[in-house]
Amino acid sequence: MTTTELAVPLFDLRLTDADLDAVARALRAGELGSGPLVETFEERFASHLGARHAVAVSSCTAALHLAHLTAGVGPGDEVIVPSITFAATANAALYCGATPVFADIVGPADPQIDPDQVERLVGPRTRAVCAVHFAGYPAAVDRLRSVCDRRGIALIEDTAHAPLADLEGQALGTFGLAGAFSFFSNKVLSCGEGGLLCTDDDEVARRARTLRAAPGDGGTFDYGFDGPRAALLASRLDGLAADVAARRALVHRYRAALARIDGVSVPFRDADVDHSSCYVMPVLVDDPARRGPLRRALRDRHGIQTSLLYPSIHEFTAFRARYGEQHLPRSRDWSDREVTLPLYPHLTEEQQDRVVEAVTEELDA
Ligand SMILES: *Cc1c(COP(=O)(O)O)cnc(C)c1O
Repeated sequence: MTTTELAVPLFDLRLTDADLDAVARALRAGELGSGPLVETFEERFASHLGARHAVAVSSCTAALHLAHLTAGVGPGDEVIVPSITFAATANAALYCGATPVFADIVGPADPQIDPDQVERLVGPRTRAVCAVHFAGYPAAVDRLRSVCDRRGIALIEDTAHAPLADLEGQALGTFGLAGAFSFFSNKVLSCGEGGLLCTDDDEVARRARTLRAAPGDGGTFDYGFDGPRAALLASRLDGLAADVAARRALVHRYRAALARIDGVSVPFRDADVDHSSCYVMPVLVDDPARRGPLRRALRDRHGIQTSLLYPSIHEFTAFRARYGEQHLPRSRDWSDREVTLPLYPHLTEEQQDRVVEAVTEELDA
């Protein structure tokens, strides 16, 4: 089925006329590269986070790479990462010549990196911990920061899912040495391709700014950003609070409806929703054997697109071949049972009801 035939896509992007005008103005002004539009966006993003510095870069992968480099991660080091994430989280360690060491999640109701296991995994070669705020909900970065501070290692936050999310009022991305945001098309705040490193550390920001420039420009990586995308993000930042509020309202509504269905459970707690950016809507089927048939039936019979976030990456051939088998039963269980349901700010209640009814019908069958 093509996306045009879908009754409810997994994700849908809607830009306003104001967004399009902002990009047109940047193009008319000829600001195709770095310049004041990029700087203005960086200042606004930093101030909305309450961080000292924001450095816009070409992707979140680039931001994670710079975060690891400026944290001093290098060959022979280890970086502790979760397995329920996008491969870029672990690849950042690889780019620096370091080895990712995978920690399990807390459990099915809290699919975030387990701080107790992280503490046990810290060893003489550990240089950093990279926590992911999965689905936009806070990982235990308060506890992870105290583990990292005690051991003298860096905490890096992969905040690809989590703009405008917080842990007890403090913005995610501001707990560790650096945070790395993604502005990829399907993320909560998107411009196509883009990312950003935030930090309170003047030296980390200075080094990240130097490294992001192209080799001919005194830099190393050519990870820079440009005016039209910065203008689009600045315009979309105006609507971010409303977008996240709409996502939260839809998630509360999903949770109430899904709680009544047998055979499926919903992670996180109701009280967590209003601290999350609600990037995606994950649910767990009780019986892993029903996951594949359910996803196929939703697609073929109901026109509803779903996804799987994530297949546990410690089992990817690329990591297994290099670092051997690791036993992470809770991550494995999650990746066997998870289904990601459609969610975006302008998803209608009718579409949402259709998703809930289709899941009910297929699980009853
Ligand atoms: C999308 C994503 C990234 C990478 O973002 P890019 O901007 O595409 O490089 C990193 N980590 C997580 C958890 C992601 O979801």
